[in-house]
Amino acid sequence: MIDETLLKQLSTAISEQLNVKILINEAKSIHGGDINQAYRIDTNEGYFFLKMNDAEKYPDMFRQELAGLQALHNANALPVPKPLAYGKVGSRSYLLLEFITKGQTVADFWDNFALLLARQHRVTQPHFGFNTPNYLGTLKQYNTPYSNWPVFYAFNRLLPLIRMAYDQQIVDKGMVNQVESLCKQLPRLFPAEPPALLHGDLWSGNFMVGSNGRACVFDPAVYYGHREMDLAMTRLFGGFDTRFYYAYQAVYPLQPGWQQRIGVCQLYPLLVHLILFGGNYYNSIREVLQAY
Ligand code: ADP
Repeated sequence: MIDETLLKQLSTAISEQLNVKILINEAKSIHGGDINQAYRIDTNEGYFFLKMNDAEKYPDMFRQELAGLQALHNANALPVPKPLAYGKVGSRSYLLLEFITKGQTVADFWDNFALLLARQHRVTQPHFGFNTPNYLGTLKQYNTPYSNWPVFYAFNRLLPLIRMAYDQQIVDKGMVNQVESLCKQLPRLFPAEPPALLHGDLWSGNFMVGSNGRACVFDPAVYYGHREMDLAMTRLFGGFDTRFYYAYQAVYPLQPGWQQRIGVCQLYPLLVHLILFGGNYYNSIREVLQAY
């Protein structure tokens, strides 16, 4: 809930940041997110999308999300809601974005989605990582730079999470050993690739069909990584059409052996889900590890 006082505080804060007088008339709750409270705010300048959370609980989450959205926006590839502002009012953080109005898919929706993701993946920088750590869900995501993907993936992704799962007694020492042993095999499994600009959390719940009938992605966990990470994520919780994969292969073919790497790439989001939600993810992780 946003009460009158908070609406006024937000109007003032946002007006200062955007350098335009913004008067919020109404905030309407939007459901669908996992972590934050989301609203469509109706203002004298039209609709905006607003996310809010407890500033102490997830420090810097919105600053980091805005940095990621900015990087995707600058790539001029897959559309994202234009990032506008972030800040704090009282004990709450907020993130202000362009409001995306939903539309109906156009005929070449999946081909276009794949083409634009491939274009985004061609945006590169000299090392794997990002200029800020961020979050995947509510877990901290480390983006310490490394010039080598297997090292980045082991030290910033798999090892911190398997240790966290072990410390929380979610997995046993045997599984820790298996992950450590897999990490040693990563250089053999992954052919060299330039660091690609990734969405980082590209599952079917993180895109919408915009008013032009095209995909608009949101809620990213951006970093420069191996592009197969984004593709493996799209396969994890369903929702992407086979046309998407054909179209991607046609414009930016993956290197041989990509099928065998899907499970390895899914291991990171699976570990995140295991830590956050427990349950069945344990078996999925065991299956991946047993294959190596
Ligand atoms: P959370 O950070 O809590 O996971 P999301 O970023 O996923 O929240 O947003 C919650 C919901 O709001 C999404 O499922 C989507 O339906 C909707 N949404 C996200 N971004 C926008 C936007 N810019 N404009 C309109 N609706 C949006």
